[in-house]
Parts: sequence; C-alpha cells; structure tokens
Amino acid sequence: MAHIGRYLVTAEDCKARSLVVRHYDAVVIGSGIAGLWTTLKLLSLGDLRIAIVSKLSAHECNTYYAQGGIATVVSPEDSFELHFRDTVEAGAGLCNEEAVWVLVTETPKRIEELCSLGVRFESDDEGFKLAREGAHGIRRIIYARGDRTGCEVEQVLLSRVRGAKVDLIEWAFAIDLLTSDDECFGVLVWSEHDGKYMALLSSVTFICTGGIGQLYDSTTNAKVATGDGLAMAYRAGARLADIEFVQFHPTALVERRSQRLLLSETVRGEGGILLNTDGERFMLRYHPMAELAPRDIVSRAIFYEMRRLGKDHVLLDMRSLNAEFIKRRFPFIYEQCLERGYDLTKQPLPVAPAAHYIMGGIEVDLFGRTSIRRLFAVGEASCTGLHGANRLASNSLNEALVFGHRAVGAASEFIADGHPDFDPLALLPSRMVVGKDVDFVHMRSGLQKLMWESVGIVRERQGLDATRSQLEHWLSAIGHVPIDVRAWEVMNMLLVGRLIVESALMRTESRGAHYREDYPIRDDANWAARLVHRRCLSGFGIKVPGEVITVNVIKVRERRLAASD
Ligand SMILES: Cc1cc2nc3c(=O)[nH]c(=O)nc-3n(C[C@H](O)[C@H](O)[C@H](O)COP(=O)(O)OP(=O)(O)OC[C@H]3O[C@@H](n4cnc5c(N)ncnc54)[C@H](O)[C@@H]3O)c2cc1C
Repeated sequence: MAHIGRYLVTAEDCKARSLVVRHYDAVVIGSGIAGLWTTLKLLSLGDLRIAIVSKLSAHECNTYYAQGGIATVVSPEDSFELHFRDTVEAGAGLCNEEAVWVLVTETPKRIEELCSLGVRFESDDEGFKLAREGAHGIRRIIYARGDRTGCEVEQVLLSRVRGAKVDLIEWAFAIDLLTSDDECFGVLVWSEHDGKYMALLSSVTFICTGGIGQLYDSTTNAKVATGDGLAMAYRAGARLADIEFVQFHPTALVERRSQRLLLSETVRGEGGILLNTDGERFMLRYHPMAELAPRDIVSRAIFYEMRRLGKDHVLLDMRSLNAEFIKRRFPFIYEQCLERGYDLTKQPLPVAPAAHYIMGGIEVDLFGRTSIRRLFAVGEASCTGLHGANRLASNSLNEALVFGHRAVGAASEFIADGHPDFDPLALLPSRMVVGKDVDFVHMRSGLQKLMWESVGIVRERQGLDATRSQLEHWLSAIGHVPIDVRAWEVMNMLLVGRLIVESALMRTESRGAHYREDYPIRDDANWAARLVHRRCLSGFGIKVPGEVITVNVIKVRERRLAASD
C-alpha cells in the first residue's frame, strides 16, 4: 500500500510564502495545442477572465515537436468511413466508436478554422499536399513546413493567445486541483519566477497537460511530459482510463539522452525502409504492410530483432530516395541528423523504439467532461476512448482541436453560473507526516529504467510485480515533499507509473500497444473492456496527512461513455 496524500503541499507552506489568490472565469493548465486552442475557443464566448499556466516557456511541449501532420479527410478518394475504419482497426477492438466518428467528421471544420487563424499547411494547385503514415490505407495527412507541423501550429496559436486578453503565466507549476465534494474550483500553482504559491480560483478548469513519455528512459516527448495532469486529477478523485496502453514510436534516433529525436513515420511513408544489423529487410516477415504496419507491430518487430541479434538498434534506410527530395520534405530531421553527425541521404540511421504517446488518460465524455464537476480535460491528458489500444498516426493534434471545441461548449454553462467564494487554504492539510529524506534525482532515473525494462514494449508478470514493489517502496518512503518542482514531478511520475503497472498487471491478454509475453493472445471474451482507476476518497477535503490508500482499478464492461448532450 502506498502513501499518496491528497495534496502535495500544506496550508502552512502556503501561508509561509504568502499565498496569492486570483479569480478567473476559466483556468487552462497547459499551453500545447489543447491548451491554446481551448483558450482561443473560450475567448470566442465573450469577455472572460482567463489564465493559462505552463510549466516552462509556453512553447515547450509535445505539440511543438510534432512532425508528421494531421489526419483529415480531404482527398476525393478518401471518406469519413475509411478514416473511421483505419482508426478503429489500429485501436484493436477497444475504440469508443462514437468518439472516432466525432473525430473524423469534425476534423475538417476545425482544420478550416486553424487555417483561418494563419496556420499554413503545404499545398499545391490541387489543394493540400497529403502524406501517408502507418496503418492509414490512403494518403490523408496534411503537414506544414515539411516536417515541422507542430511548430507551425504552436507558433501561430501562441501568437494569437499572446495578442489576446489572457493571463499567460509561464514557469508556473500546477501542483494540485482545488476540489471539494467532487467539484473543482481551480488549481494551486507554484510560480518559479517569484517562489510563491498562487491559488487560481475559477468557474471551470481545463487540464491540458499532455502525456507521460518522461516516465520512460527513452522517449520522443518533451521534458514537460511527466503525467502531472493525470496525477493531480487522480489525487482529486477523477477517473483515469486505458492507461496501460502506452504507444512506443518505432523509429527514434539512438542517442545518449532521454528525449530522442523522432524520425517521423512519414519517412517510411515516403519509402524509407527498416533493416536489421545484418542488413535484412525484416518487416516483411512480420506484417503484409511491412514498414507501414500499425505502430505497435513495427515497434515489437524491432524489439525482437534487436533482442535476437543482441543490438540496441536497427537501421532506417532512406538512401533510395532522392537527396534533394529528402532535404525539401524533411528539412528538420535532415538538419538535426547532420548536427548529430549523420547524413541521412548517404547513410542508414541507427533507430530504436521510444515511448511516444499514452492512449489513456483522464476519462472524459464526448464534451471533455471529467467525473468531477467543472473540471474538463482536453488533448493527450484526456481519454475519450477514441484511440482504443493503439492510436492511429496523426490522430492526436486533431483530437485536441475537435474535443477542445466541444469542451468549451459544455463548459460555458458553468461559466455563466459563476462560482462560490471560498478559502483555498481550508482545503489543504495543515501538516503532513515527515518521511525519510529521499534522493528524488535517483528515484526519477530509477523509475525511468524500470518502466522501460518492465512496463515497456513487451511485459510479463514477474517484471511488472517487481516494478510494483519498487514503486510502492519509493512512494512509501516519501513523507512531506520538499517545496521543489522536481520533487513534485517525481511524485507525479511515481504515482502514474504505479497506476500504469496495476492496469498492465490486471490486463492478462495482449492487445494493441499492451503486449504480455505471458498472455500473448488477444482475449475478446474476457478483455473487450476498459480498466478504470478511481481513487476512493472518504468525503470532503481529506486532511489526513500521509493518507494510506489502496490502488483501486475496476474493469468496465461497456466501452462507451454516453454523450449526454
Ligand atoms: C516528437 C513528437 C512528434 C509527434 N508527431 C505528431 C504528429 O505528427 N501528429 C499528431 O497528431 N500527433 C503527433 N504527436 C503527438 C502530439 O504532438 C501530442 O499528443 C499533442 O501535441 C499533445 O498536445 P497537448 O496540448 O495535449 O500536450 P502538450 O503539447 O504536450 O502540452 C502540454 C502542456 O502542459 C503543460 N504542463 C504539463 N504539466 C504541467 C504542470 N504541472 N503545470 C503547468 N503546466 C503543465 C506543459 O508545460 C505544456 O505547456 C507527436 C508527439 C511527439 C512527442
């Protein structure tokens, strides 16, 4: 049993650093595509007081690094039905089909809006240029600046937000949601600029904190992706779903740092092939779509080839492509590789899978509503069930656009309501049990290694059990957490890691991105179901220091959350 307190800080801490209290109509946590888009949509509701908080500089997020593009039905050969079918097939029997249909049918409209804000996708006389990625039956990915789609989107949205009447609070770490009776009234934030706590009280709060890639030793994710949103939502009592499904991107450059350079799937879409270190094009042995098979299949194939040959990489070979085409089509990848000493027009690159995306997250309905009133989640931190057990490539930037738009519609009723005034300090524990001194840096790297080795591409009971024990041990060793962003992050990472392990242990089958070597077969009879975590709270405002809880995961038969609008 782990000690997971309801809040990471005490009222005493806050008083000692003179808590700043501010009131808003809406607070948005995160400044990636989900946070910025949600904010712009909120602005269209009228003259609202809005704050966005972002852990580092606003642009430092996964959105900024997105390369491949956005899947949308624009080609005359394409259709909503085909995009729907590819998404559901990749999702390995677990997609919430209602959410998939919403995504594919509403994406084109949101793309039009994105363009009208100034985002420029590459086009020619016939319209948008289209790329192809794994498990898409047709070319349907629109892209910008060659391989810098995310950067284009982030910069345009950010400049719009900076030009609007919004408090953009950078270098501000959201620590915990302020909730009582399953209703959210804002968030407690630490400002790195002045070393002060801020209680941002709000009619509605949006969690747009992105993914969890940094829980793993090797990831394509930005350093902000430590699962903070999932952890704070869980501590507040919100439901988390499908979190055992973590996608590993097959082709990240092998290098000595945890945030690895992604080599987009569009590289393989344009003809790049994979060779093992013996020079064999092995993907043909694993799947008829070869290099363009679904991501989980390509990642596992690479994992097995590396294990069989005792190597830490395979090779991505683009030499058959025209050099000028490569430089024009993938300018960012080309330059980044050159900086690292590789000329990809002349030599194959050493690549291996890396943690990339979490299909699960804070459970929401089709309007971004979580299980806590006034609390919404959008983007990678949320889970509509759309991606099932495995996300189809380029279906995530559009997810933020489509469901962000819907969430703002649903949130407007609470904004009109206003919110009661209350003292945020009354919610926080007055003191906490002081635990052992712990080395958070050591814990962080230990967690990343364990997650990579035992909760990664291939899993089995023994490794999962051992990881669970170690994470329990670390969580139990921590008492009152020091006032330090890095320590809060590690607490969040340990908590989310612990929950992922529990779901991965419970799901005794293999499906999509979750592969159990001890249960290698997909088991629809028992496991066409989702796993949902919900922390048991014993009522309003838990003030028990170092509260002991048991991890509580339930199997939910029905896959869909009904849309109530
Ligand atoms: C290298 C790479 C390439 C990708 N390519 C594509 C692609 O081509 N197409 C596609 O559809 N998807 C792609 N993805 C996935 C996609 O980019 C992400 O899923 C999406 O950008 C997530 O957006 P988001 O707004 O939810 O999160 P993010 O963009 O990650 O933003 C998260 C925000 O939350 C903030 N935050 C987090 N925790 C806290 C906290 N405690 N306090 C305050 N702020 C906090 C961060 O500072 C950041 O501002 C890619 C991902 C990566 C990593």
